[in-house]
Amino acid sequence: MASQTIEHTGSRSAFVTEFMHALSEKNPGETEFLQAVEECIVSLEPVLDRNPVYRDNGIIDRMVEPDRILQFRVSWMDDAGEVHVNRGYRVQFNNAIGPYKGGLRFHPSVNQSILKFLGFEQVFKNSLTTLPIGGGKGGSDFDPRGRSDAEVMRFCSSFMSELFRFIGPDTDVPAGDIGVGGREIGYLFGQYRKLTNSFTGVLTGRGVNWGGSLIRPEATGFGSVYFAAEMLHEQGKSMEAMDCLVSGSGNVAQYTTEKVLDLGGRVLTMSDSTGYIHDPEGIDREKLAWVMDLKNTRRGRIAEYVDAFPGSTYSDHDLTAGSSPLWNIPAQVAFPSATQNEIDARAAQTLVDNGILAVSEGANMPTTPEGQAIFIGSGVLYGPGKAANAGGVAVSALEMAQSSQRVYSSRDEVDDRLRDIMKRIHKVSLDAAAAYDVPGNYLHGANIAGFTKVADAMVDQGVI
Ligand code: NDP
Repeated sequence: MASQTIEHTGSRSAFVTEFMHALSEKNPGETEFLQAVEECIVSLEPVLDRNPVYRDNGIIDRMVEPDRILQFRVSWMDDAGEVHVNRGYRVQFNNAIGPYKGGLRFHPSVNQSILKFLGFEQVFKNSLTTLPIGGGKGGSDFDPRGRSDAEVMRFCSSFMSELFRFIGPDTDVPAGDIGVGGREIGYLFGQYRKLTNSFTGVLTGRGVNWGGSLIRPEATGFGSVYFAAEMLHEQGKSMEAMDCLVSGSGNVAQYTTEKVLDLGGRVLTMSDSTGYIHDPEGIDREKLAWVMDLKNTRRGRIAEYVDAFPGSTYSDHDLTAGSSPLWNIPAQVAFPSATQNEIDARAAQTLVDNGILAVSEGANMPTTPEGQAIFIGSGVLYGPGKAANAGGVAVSALEMAQSSQRVYSSRDEVDDRLRDIMKRIHKVSLDAAAAYDVPGNYLHGANIAGFTKVADAMVDQGVI
């Protein structure tokens, strides 16, 4: 088991305390954003100490301030003729190493804090892929659940009627995230194309008939499993016969499940925001195909699984009251693939007590800081989201390259590149951790490796 010696939380240094105090005064109430920054600053303090050039150039102060935040009204009409008004956002965080790149999230919880946390993490994640992409994030508090296709289309058209002014293939290239899948990307792209009279790679995650890359829908989930396999391989283990817990049942969860099956493991759980299913026999390919149809075509709830597969059980969960009991089920590998802060300290401790070996985060920031400290302190192989789920944006960057060259790669070519990129992210994270005397600590390693490339570019380009 890797030794992960530095505690993530616990006593803060004077530098971190002072920095976070100033940041919270400037960004009151932005709890998710402050959480994401603190995690990074703790990792980066030794880097700043060893490299005065970063302090001399005010790199950290500049990196926690987005280049700009765009906010706009999105008005649309439902099928009954009633008018609704939602809020749209794009946070263009940092483009020092390439055009802003990051998904759009449509979910009622979306606010500026959540998008700033996601945009901030995206800067580090995109740098880790080694591809030339900056970081951004956007979305709306619109809830596509329960809406007809026509309503979603009207919303997306209205959203893009404003966003189109601020994005472009060399400026800012959005993709999907929670609530934004192939259907939404299609409607968004259609409106962009109409408004600008141009067919460009302005969005990724497009259909393969209209400029999309093969393997893009699969990439985040596949990549998260490749990352877990690399962490296990480092310890002389493999995914073969591993019992796995997956949360969520959307894009990332579905393709995580598929890749676990490919590598010989067994997935026992899936969930959505209302509850989770436990299938002790494992979710095989036939059951997974049923889930994909349920979620992507019929747009149903995971509770319906037990009617189709009677050996399984379904339980409601109230996520406002703490983590899902899904994490109480004994397994060796966990793939949180739903949303932020879904594993709290209690759930992390239960996973550790039940002998979890590895946690690979398909979701962004799914583990609370207290949960992270428990995993790292217990020697669990802990793959943080900005490393483990970077496969999605990496294939998006390949899609951008394919679009501009108007060439298209085969499924196997893209999958091979994805696997290589995940191996590289694993290695640079481990190398950075070792270089800063925290061997095996993927959290610090990923933060340090992601930071360095962006920081050096900012130094080179001057104070702007
Ligand atoms: P989807 O919308 O396809 O699926 C999200 C899943 O998570 C659904 O099952 C949803 O349930 C559940 N969920 C969403 N919000 C909550 C919540 N507040 N509480 C509990 N469950 C919730 O999204 P993705 O699969 O694309 O995204 C999942 C995670 O992966 C997110 O953290 C996202 O940021 C991250 N990610 C996604 C990437 C991508 O390429 N798509 C890339 C990198 C990271 P319900 O249907 O009930 O809402």
